[in-house]
Amino acid sequence: MKRTSRRCSNCCGRPAISLTDILARVRAAERTAGRTEGAVKLIAVSKVQPLDRVEAVLAEGYRTFGENYVQEAAAKWPDLASRFGAVELHMIGPLQTNKARVAVEIFDAIHTLDRPSLAEKLARLAEARGTCPELFVQVNTGAEPQKAGVLPDATEGFVASCRALGLPMVGLMCIPPEDADPVAHFTLLATLAERSGLAGLSMGMSADFETAIAHGATHVRVGSAIFGARDYAGRG
Ligand SMILES: *Cc1c(COP(=O)(O)O)cnc(C)c1O
Repeated sequence: MKRTSRRCSNCCGRPAISLTDILARVRAAERTAGRTEGAVKLIAVSKVQPLDRVEAVLAEGYRTFGENYVQEAAAKWPDLASRFGAVELHMIGPLQTNKARVAVEIFDAIHTLDRPSLAEKLARLAEARGTCPELFVQVNTGAEPQKAGVLPDATEGFVASCRALGLPMVGLMCIPPEDADPVAHFTLLATLAERSGLAGLSMGMSADFETAIAHGATHVRVGSAIFGARDYAGRG
């Protein structure tokens, strides 16, 4: 299998780990945690990555990807899907209300529902289309002022109001504060999801996806460990 050698030049200089190895680690973490095999979905986060890296993972047969920017995803995925076949696309970045219409057309799931105005917009679009992506509410578990997401205390009420709009609510998502131990945040998210009767837990990234699986993650979002470091400066 042809693999370009990719290195994490920004930090550790180590090569990116192959998709096969990451998948094996996901399955091993499921076993260790006593979870059902296949209970955890690996979302390969392809934002900002050069096309050849994404094509390499598609060529390996992988079909579940995550993107942060509506415009980037809309520019990239219709063509990739026409060449490689249908993919399952997850929106994991902040979603502006004026991009919601395009988002519901290209994404199978949105992990970043975080405010009533967006919920209302999605409900209108869903009614017009007759379908809606699966929805996760983003929770700001660290109550960080600069971070999106509903506050933990407001989560149950917000989920209830989304359900009242008829939206297909499947889970909660969090991004723990950068320098914090993520365990408290994963545990809090699991507690909040249970309280709202939601089964989905979107948590865990390259550095901590195995920990997240141990604490109940159903969706892990892994980017740089699969594709290598992102080069924001080189974005074209
Ligand atoms: C970029 C991003 C990821 C992937 O991060 P890595 O550390 O590269 O695995 C996961 N979740 C969200 C919300 C992101 O923005």
